[in-house]
Amino acid sequence: MSKLNVRNIHSPNLDDHIYHLPNEGPGYDDLKQLYAWSFDDAWKAQNEWKAKNTRGRGPLFRWLGAQELKELYNTHKAGNSAAILEAIFLCSMNSLPIPRWCEMAYITAYRKVRQDKAKSWDDVFGRPHPKGMHLETKRQEREKGFKVYDMIEKIKQDDPTTPIDGFLFETIGRKLGIGGKTLTETYYYKELTFRKRYKCDGCGKRYAHWHDINKDGFCNYCEDKKKALDKNKTIKQSP
Ligand SMILES: [Zn+2]
Repeated sequence: MSKLNVRNIHSPNLDDHIYHLPNEGPGYDDLKQLYAWSFDDAWKAQNEWKAKNTRGRGPLFRWLGAQELKELYNTHKAGNSAAILEAIFLCSMNSLPIPRWCEMAYITAYRKVRQDKAKSWDDVFGRPHPKGMHLETKRQEREKGFKVYDMIEKIKQDDPTTPIDGFLFETIGRKLGIGGKTLTETYYYKELTFRKRYKCDGCGKRYAHWHDINKDGFCNYCEDKKKALDKNKTIKQSP
């Protein structure tokens, strides 16, 4: 899936406009509002929602999902049929109404199989895995990634001063039977990026929750540091 391109959010293609929304109804108004929001609107709505809810993903994620749906429309339009199931997944994850383009594409694809015009789901929705991929190898890689990450997390809990270095990766790699420290390191950072996907633009530290990073991209620690610096500047500038 392509990365969200924030610059393209507010440049709707008028011809495509109707396909981004469902037919008239509650879902139409819901998605139309999400498309109209700016990032700040979504951020504000999320904070208001968070004060009242402890379950679910909230408006910010629905907004992000809506933006991704727009990108998937382009992916699908460019001929990639895998965008259909990806869009259905996004809608399910974020309780989003299904846009018209996705609804139409899904019905067409489904009917091709049901009416014996296509042999398999892969023919209409695209292959889920690349040809020749070893499922077992791929699954083991993923599981080893979990194990490396968990082991390092436990070590860090016991002794937060433990350096995350070549020696640590080598020890863990040997313990888990992965072998080389480079491979173990790769597993660790892949897993870290997956689990802590919110990165601070200041210190580079990774966080598990979006609300650990403010809308300027900084963590609380960096924000406080910035505020202290600004305050110092003001004091020095005043006569
Ligand atoms: Zn930071």
